[in-house]
Amino acid sequence: MNTKQFLTLSSVSLVGASAALATADYGPAVDRMITGCSKWYTSGYGHKFAVVHSMEGYYLTGTSYLRRCDISASCHYTVNGKTDYAGDAAPGEISQLVREAYYAWHATCWNQHSLGTEHEGFVGNPAWFTDAMYQASALLHRHFADKFGFAKDRNHIVGHGEKSNAAWCSYASANLGINPYCNTHTDPGPYWNWTYFMSLINPPAPVVVDNSNAGFTASSAWATGTAAGDKYGANYRWRSTQAVSDPASWSASNLPAGTYKIYAWWSAGSNRSTAAPYIVYHSGGSTTVTMNQQANGGKWNLLGTFNLNAGTGKVSLSCWAPSGYVVVADAIKWVR
Ligand SMILES: [Zn+2]
Repeated sequence: MNTKQFLTLSSVSLVGASAALATADYGPAVDRMITGCSKWYTSGYGHKFAVVHSMEGYYLTGTSYLRRCDISASCHYTVNGKTDYAGDAAPGEISQLVREAYYAWHATCWNQHSLGTEHEGFVGNPAWFTDAMYQASALLHRHFADKFGFAKDRNHIVGHGEKSNAAWCSYASANLGINPYCNTHTDPGPYWNWTYFMSLINPPAPVVVDNSNAGFTASSAWATGTAAGDKYGANYRWRSTQAVSDPASWSASNLPAGTYKIYAWWSAGSNRSTAAPYIVYHSGGSTTVTMNQQANGGKWNLLGTFNLNAGTGKVSLSCWAPSGYVVVADAIKWVR
Protein backbone atom coordinates (compact mmCIF):
# COMPACT_ATOMS: atom_id res chain seq x y z
CA MET A 1 0.00 0.00 0.00
CA ASN A 2 1.01 3.58 -0.43
CA THR A 3 -0.82 4.69 2.66
CA LYS A 4 -0.50 3.07 6.03
CA GLN A 5 -4.14 2.93 7.04
CA PHE A 6 -4.97 -0.57 8.13
CA LEU A 7 -7.85 -2.19 6.32
CA THR A 8 -10.37 -4.10 8.35
CA LEU A 9 -13.25 -6.20 7.13
CA SER A 10 -15.84 -3.83 8.51
CA SER A 11 -14.30 -0.45 7.82
CA VAL A 12 -15.52 0.00 4.27
CA SER A 13 -18.41 -1.33 2.21
CA LEU A 14 -17.69 -4.28 -0.04
CA VAL A 15 -17.45 -3.67 -3.75
CA GLY A 16 -20.36 -5.06 -5.67
CA ALA A 17 -20.56 -8.59 -6.96
CA SER A 18 -22.29 -7.14 -10.01
CA ALA A 19 -19.03 -5.86 -11.49
CA ALA A 20 -18.37 -6.80 -15.10
CA LEU A 21 -16.17 -9.81 -15.75
CA ALA A 22 -13.56 -8.38 -18.10
CA THR A 23 -11.84 -5.11 -18.85
CA ALA A 24 -10.66 -3.71 -22.16
CA ASP A 25 -7.07 -3.87 -20.94
CA TYR A 26 -6.98 -7.38 -19.47
CA GLY A 27 -9.57 -10.06 -20.10
CA PRO A 28 -9.24 -11.95 -16.80
CA ALA A 29 -9.78 -8.80 -14.68
CA VAL A 30 -13.05 -7.84 -13.03
CA ASP A 31 -14.00 -4.27 -13.91
CA ARG A 32 -13.82 -2.24 -10.71
CA MET A 33 -12.54 0.94 -12.34
CA ILE A 34 -12.40 3.98 -10.05
CA THR A 35 -15.34 6.27 -10.84
CA GLY A 36 -16.28 9.74 -9.61
CA CYS A 37 -12.73 11.05 -9.39
CA SER A 38 -9.45 10.79 -11.31
CA LYS A 39 -6.86 9.31 -8.98
CA TRP A 40 -4.19 8.92 -11.67
CA TYR A 41 -1.89 10.85 -13.96
CA THR A 42 -2.95 10.82 -17.59
CA SER A 43 0.65 11.24 -18.75
CA GLY A 44 4.04 10.04 -17.62
CA TYR A 45 7.41 8.80 -18.78
CA GLY A 46 6.35 5.41 -20.08
CA HIS A 47 5.45 2.25 -18.20
CA LYS A 48 8.99 0.97 -17.72
CA PHE A 49 8.53 -1.40 -14.79
CA ALA A 50 5.91 -2.92 -12.49
CA VAL A 51 5.65 -2.66 -8.72
CA VAL A 52 4.36 -5.51 -6.56
CA HIS A 53 2.59 -4.42 -3.37
CA SER A 54 0.87 -6.19 -0.52
CA MET A 55 -2.28 -4.44 0.67
CA GLU A 56 -1.72 -4.95 4.38
CA GLY A 57 -5.38 -5.88 4.20
CA TYR A 58 -8.02 -7.97 2.47
CA TYR A 59 -8.93 -8.06 -1.20
CA LEU A 60 -12.50 -6.78 -1.45
CA THR A 61 -12.21 -4.26 1.38
CA GLY A 62 -8.79 -3.16 0.14
CA THR A 63 -10.14 -2.76 -3.39
CA SER A 64 -13.06 -0.70 -2.07
CA TYR A 65 -10.68 1.43 -0.05
CA LEU A 66 -8.50 2.16 -3.05
CA ARG A 67 -11.59 3.18 -5.05
CA ARG A 68 -12.63 5.81 -2.50
CA CYS A 69 -12.31 9.37 -3.78
CA ASP A 70 -11.30 10.69 -0.35
CA ILE A 71 -8.22 8.43 -0.32
CA SER A 72 -5.30 9.78 -2.36
CA ALA A 73 -3.95 6.41 -3.43
CA SER A 74 -4.74 4.01 -6.26
CA CYS A 75 -3.26 1.16 -8.23
CA HIS A 76 -3.91 -0.49 -11.58
CA TYR A 77 -4.92 -3.91 -10.28
CA THR A 78 -5.65 -5.82 -7.09
CA VAL A 79 -5.30 -9.60 -6.67
CA ASN A 80 -7.06 -11.89 -4.20
CA GLY A 81 -5.20 -14.49 -2.15
CA LYS A 82 -7.81 -16.46 -0.26
CA THR A 83 -11.53 -16.79 0.14
CA ASP A 84 -11.74 -15.46 3.68
CA TYR A 85 -15.48 -15.79 4.33
CA ALA A 86 -18.67 -16.86 2.57
CA GLY A 87 -19.22 -14.47 -0.32
CA ASP A 88 -15.57 -13.45 -0.61
CA ALA A 89 -13.99 -13.60 -4.06
CA ALA A 90 -12.18 -16.66 -5.43
CA PRO A 91 -8.42 -17.01 -4.91
CA GLY A 92 -6.58 -15.43 -7.83
CA GLU A 93 -9.38 -13.03 -8.77
CA ILE A 94 -8.06 -9.79 -10.24
CA SER A 95 -9.77 -6.37 -10.21
CA GLN A 96 -8.78 -3.45 -12.42
CA LEU A 97 -9.09 0.03 -10.89
CA VAL A 98 -7.10 2.30 -13.25
CA ARG A 99 -6.61 2.05 -17.02
CA GLU A 100 -3.18 0.80 -18.05
CA ALA A 101 -2.64 3.86 -20.25
CA TYR A 102 -2.67 6.01 -17.10
CA TYR A 103 -0.37 6.17 -14.09
CA ALA A 104 -1.84 5.16 -10.74
CA TRP A 105 -0.79 6.60 -7.38
CA HIS A 106 0.91 3.71 -5.61
CA ALA A 107 4.63 4.44 -5.23
CA THR A 108 5.25 8.22 -4.92
CA CYS A 109 8.07 9.25 -7.27
CA TRP A 110 7.85 5.99 -9.27
CA ASN A 111 4.21 6.56 -10.23
CA GLN A 112 4.75 8.16 -13.62
CA HIS A 113 7.15 5.40 -14.66
CA SER A 114 5.39 2.24 -13.56
CA LEU A 115 2.36 -0.01 -13.11
CA GLY A 116 1.19 -0.96 -9.64
CA THR A 117 -0.59 -4.05 -8.35
CA GLU A 118 -1.81 -4.58 -4.80
CA HIS A 119 -2.01 -8.15 -3.47
CA GLU A 120 -4.16 -9.29 -0.59
CA GLY A 121 -1.95 -10.03 2.39
CA PHE A 122 0.61 -8.74 4.79
CA VAL A 123 4.35 -8.13 4.97
CA GLY A 124 4.44 -10.14 8.19
CA ASN A 125 2.30 -13.14 7.21
CA PRO A 126 2.65 -15.36 4.13
CA ALA A 127 -0.78 -17.01 4.48
CA TRP A 128 -2.49 -14.91 1.79
CA PHE A 129 0.30 -15.32 -0.79
CA THR A 130 -1.33 -18.42 -2.27
CA ASP A 131 -0.44 -20.40 -5.36
CA ALA A 132 -3.59 -19.10 -7.05
CA MET A 133 -2.43 -15.55 -6.37
CA TYR A 134 1.06 -16.19 -7.73
CA GLN A 135 -0.32 -17.88 -10.85
CA ALA A 136 -2.82 -15.10 -11.60
CA SER A 137 -0.42 -12.26 -10.84
CA ALA A 138 2.36 -13.86 -12.90
CA LEU A 139 0.12 -13.90 -15.98
CA LEU A 140 -0.81 -10.26 -15.31
CA HIS A 141 2.85 -9.25 -15.03
CA ARG A 142 3.73 -11.21 -18.18
CA HIS A 143 0.98 -9.21 -19.90
CA PHE A 144 2.47 -5.93 -18.59
CA ALA A 145 5.94 -6.79 -19.87
CA ASP A 146 4.68 -7.94 -23.27
CA LYS A 147 2.41 -4.90 -23.72
CA PHE A 148 4.87 -2.24 -22.61
CA GLY A 149 8.02 -3.94 -23.82
CA PHE A 150 10.06 -4.27 -20.66
CA ALA A 151 12.11 -7.30 -19.63
CA LYS A 152 10.55 -10.05 -17.52
CA ASP A 153 13.28 -9.79 -14.90
CA ARG A 154 13.83 -8.50 -11.37
CA ASN A 155 15.06 -5.14 -12.61
CA HIS A 156 11.63 -4.48 -14.14
CA ILE A 157 9.33 -6.43 -11.82
CA VAL A 158 10.07 -5.17 -8.33
CA GLY A 159 8.67 -4.84 -4.85
CA HIS A 160 7.55 -1.59 -3.29
CA GLY A 161 10.41 -2.20 -0.86
CA GLU A 162 13.03 -2.77 -3.57
CA LYS A 163 15.17 0.04 -2.14
CA SER A 164 16.68 -2.65 0.09
CA ASN A 165 18.15 -4.29 -3.02
CA ALA A 166 21.38 -2.39 -3.73
CA ALA A 167 21.84 -3.99 -7.15
CA TRP A 168 18.42 -2.82 -8.24
CA CYS A 169 18.96 0.68 -6.88
CA SER A 170 22.04 1.13 -9.01
CA TYR A 171 20.24 -0.35 -12.03
CA ALA A 172 17.20 1.86 -11.49
CA SER A 173 19.25 5.03 -11.02
CA ALA A 174 21.11 4.40 -14.26
CA ASN A 175 18.31 2.96 -16.42
CA LEU A 176 14.82 3.75 -15.17
CA GLY A 177 15.11 7.49 -14.69
CA ILE A 178 13.88 7.37 -11.10
CA ASN A 179 15.10 7.94 -7.60
CA PRO A 180 15.02 4.37 -6.20
CA TYR A 181 15.03 5.65 -2.61
CA CYS A 182 11.85 7.76 -2.60
CA ASN A 183 9.65 5.01 -1.12
CA THR A 184 9.80 4.01 2.53
CA HIS A 185 7.56 0.93 2.50
CA THR A 186 8.82 -2.64 2.69
CA ASP A 187 5.96 -4.55 1.03
CA PRO A 188 5.43 -7.22 -0.17
CA GLY A 189 8.12 -8.25 2.32
CA PRO A 190 10.29 -11.30 2.95
CA TYR A 191 7.55 -13.89 2.49
CA TRP A 192 6.84 -13.00 -1.14
CA ASN A 193 8.38 -15.88 -3.13
CA TRP A 194 10.20 -14.03 -5.91
CA THR A 195 11.90 -17.16 -7.23
CA TYR A 196 8.59 -18.92 -7.74
CA PHE A 197 6.84 -15.80 -9.02
CA MET A 198 9.51 -15.13 -11.66
CA SER A 199 9.53 -18.79 -12.72
CA LEU A 200 5.80 -18.48 -13.40
CA ILE A 201 6.34 -15.30 -15.42
CA ASN A 202 9.11 -17.01 -17.40
CA PRO A 203 7.91 -20.60 -17.75
CA PRO A 204 10.34 -23.26 -18.93
CA ALA A 205 10.03 -24.51 -22.49
CA PRO A 206 7.76 -27.54 -22.96
CA VAL A 207 9.55 -30.87 -22.54
CA VAL A 208 8.79 -33.67 -25.01
CA VAL A 209 9.98 -37.25 -24.54
CA ASP A 210 9.49 -39.41 -27.65
CA ASN A 211 9.79 -43.19 -27.63
CA SER A 212 13.16 -42.79 -29.36
CA ASN A 213 14.55 -40.53 -26.58
CA ALA A 214 16.73 -41.51 -23.63
CA GLY A 215 13.90 -40.96 -21.15
CA PHE A 216 11.79 -43.76 -22.65
CA THR A 217 11.83 -47.36 -21.46
CA ALA A 218 9.83 -50.42 -22.54
CA SER A 219 10.36 -54.17 -22.52
CA SER A 220 11.00 -56.16 -25.68
CA ALA A 221 7.35 -57.15 -25.64
CA TRP A 222 6.67 -53.67 -27.01
CA ALA A 223 7.18 -53.93 -30.80
CA THR A 224 8.40 -51.01 -32.93
CA GLY A 225 5.93 -49.68 -35.47
CA THR A 226 6.58 -47.29 -38.33
CA ALA A 227 3.53 -47.69 -40.57
CA ALA A 228 1.16 -45.14 -39.09
CA GLY A 229 1.23 -41.74 -40.77
CA ASP A 230 0.12 -39.90 -37.63
CA LYS A 231 3.10 -40.97 -35.53
CA TYR A 232 5.35 -38.57 -33.59
CA GLY A 233 8.91 -38.81 -34.91
CA ALA A 234 10.16 -41.80 -36.87
CA ASN A 235 8.34 -44.60 -35.06
CA TYR A 236 6.38 -45.74 -32.04
CA ARG A 237 6.09 -48.78 -29.81
CA TRP A 238 3.03 -50.97 -29.46
CA ARG A 239 1.96 -53.96 -27.43
CA SER A 240 -1.07 -56.24 -27.25
CA THR A 241 -3.29 -55.56 -24.27
CA GLN A 242 -2.86 -58.18 -21.58
CA ALA A 243 -3.51 -58.50 -17.84
CA VAL A 244 0.15 -58.21 -16.88
CA SER A 245 2.28 -55.38 -15.49
CA ASP A 246 4.61 -54.41 -18.34
CA PRO A 247 4.32 -50.64 -18.77
CA ALA A 248 6.18 -48.40 -21.17
CA SER A 249 7.44 -45.25 -19.42
CA TRP A 250 8.52 -41.72 -20.31
CA SER A 251 10.68 -39.74 -17.88
CA ALA A 252 11.61 -36.05 -18.14
CA SER A 253 14.53 -34.98 -15.94
CA ASN A 254 15.22 -31.65 -14.25
CA LEU A 255 11.67 -30.34 -14.36
CA PRO A 256 11.19 -27.34 -12.05
CA ALA A 257 8.42 -27.69 -9.51
CA GLY A 258 5.07 -26.37 -10.65
CA THR A 259 1.72 -27.03 -12.23
CA TYR A 260 1.93 -28.82 -15.57
CA LYS A 261 -0.43 -29.73 -18.37
CA ILE A 262 0.61 -33.21 -19.49
CA TYR A 263 -0.21 -34.46 -22.99
CA ALA A 264 0.07 -37.79 -24.84
CA TRP A 265 0.52 -38.40 -28.57
CA TRP A 266 -0.42 -41.68 -30.22
CA SER A 267 -1.16 -43.02 -33.69
CA ALA A 268 -4.82 -43.93 -33.94
CA GLY A 269 -6.38 -47.06 -35.47
CA SER A 270 -9.32 -49.41 -35.16
CA ASN A 271 -7.17 -52.10 -33.49
CA ARG A 272 -6.22 -49.71 -30.64
CA SER A 273 -7.56 -49.87 -27.10
CA THR A 274 -10.41 -47.53 -26.27
CA ALA A 275 -9.19 -47.54 -22.64
CA ALA A 276 -5.42 -47.13 -22.83
CA PRO A 277 -4.32 -46.63 -19.19
CA TYR A 278 -1.83 -43.77 -18.81
CA ILE A 279 -0.41 -43.55 -15.29
CA VAL A 280 0.64 -39.98 -14.48
CA TYR A 281 3.06 -39.50 -11.56
CA HIS A 282 2.78 -36.21 -9.65
CA SER A 283 3.34 -34.62 -6.25
CA GLY A 284 0.27 -36.34 -4.80
CA GLY A 285 1.17 -39.86 -6.01
CA SER A 286 -0.14 -41.20 -9.31
CA THR A 287 -3.35 -40.93 -11.29
CA THR A 288 -4.52 -43.31 -14.02
CA VAL A 289 -6.16 -41.64 -17.02
CA THR A 290 -7.71 -43.86 -19.71
CA MET A 291 -7.64 -42.57 -23.28
CA ASN A 292 -9.33 -43.84 -26.46
CA GLN A 293 -6.53 -44.53 -28.93
CA GLN A 294 -8.98 -45.29 -31.74
CA ALA A 295 -9.48 -41.53 -32.09
CA ASN A 296 -7.46 -38.27 -31.88
CA GLY A 297 -4.24 -39.69 -33.31
CA GLY A 298 -1.50 -37.46 -34.60
CA LYS A 299 -1.92 -34.68 -32.01
CA TRP A 300 -1.32 -33.79 -28.41
CA ASN A 301 -4.15 -34.96 -26.16
CA LEU A 302 -4.43 -33.59 -22.63
CA LEU A 303 -4.11 -36.21 -19.89
CA GLY A 304 -4.72 -33.57 -17.22
CA THR A 305 -3.17 -30.80 -15.14
CA PHE A 306 -0.93 -31.95 -12.31
CA ASN A 307 1.38 -30.50 -9.65
CA LEU A 308 4.92 -31.84 -9.87
CA ASN A 309 7.72 -31.61 -7.34
CA ALA A 310 11.10 -30.51 -8.65
CA GLY A 311 12.91 -33.37 -10.36
CA THR A 312 11.73 -36.05 -12.70
CA GLY A 313 8.33 -36.15 -14.35
CA LYS A 314 7.08 -39.61 -15.29
CA VAL A 315 4.19 -41.10 -17.24
CA SER A 316 3.65 -44.81 -17.90
CA LEU A 317 1.35 -46.57 -20.34
CA SER A 318 0.05 -49.86 -19.03
CA CYS A 319 -0.95 -52.74 -21.32
CA TRP A 320 -3.39 -53.92 -18.64
CA ALA A 321 -6.60 -53.11 -20.51
CA PRO A 322 -9.46 -55.18 -22.03
CA SER A 323 -7.89 -57.80 -24.32
CA GLY A 324 -8.06 -57.99 -28.08
CA TYR A 325 -6.45 -54.63 -28.81
CA VAL A 326 -3.07 -52.91 -28.79
CA VAL A 327 -1.82 -49.86 -26.89
CA VAL A 328 0.50 -47.41 -28.63
CA ALA A 329 3.37 -45.68 -26.78
CA ASP A 330 4.61 -42.71 -28.80
CA ALA A 331 5.35 -39.40 -27.03
CA ILE A 332 4.55 -37.39 -23.88
CA LYS A 333 4.77 -33.62 -23.35
CA TRP A 334 4.98 -31.57 -20.12
CA VAL A 335 3.91 -27.90 -20.40
CA ARG A 336 4.03 -25.44 -17.52
ZN1 LIG B 1 3.08 -0.81 -1.35
